[in-house]
Amino acid sequence: MSFLTETLRQKVRQRAGNRCEYCLSHQDYIMGRLQIDHIQPLAKGGVNTEDNLCLACELCN
Ligand SMILES: [Zn+2]
Repeated sequence: MSFLTETLRQKVRQRAGNRCEYCLSHQDYIMGRLQIDHIQPLAKGGVNTEDNLCLACELCN
């Protein structure tokens, strides 16, 4: 997902409060790093906007 700008990643991370937006696990309490996930996948016509992105842990992603 290198096509996402760092600014956009930071916005999503900030909005989510550094938690997985599905299970609400905080970054400090999960293994690995929270990832930026597409709510509507690009393959299905999703876009790279803040609205279509969420923060997710590896289990939820
Ligand atoms: Zn999660």
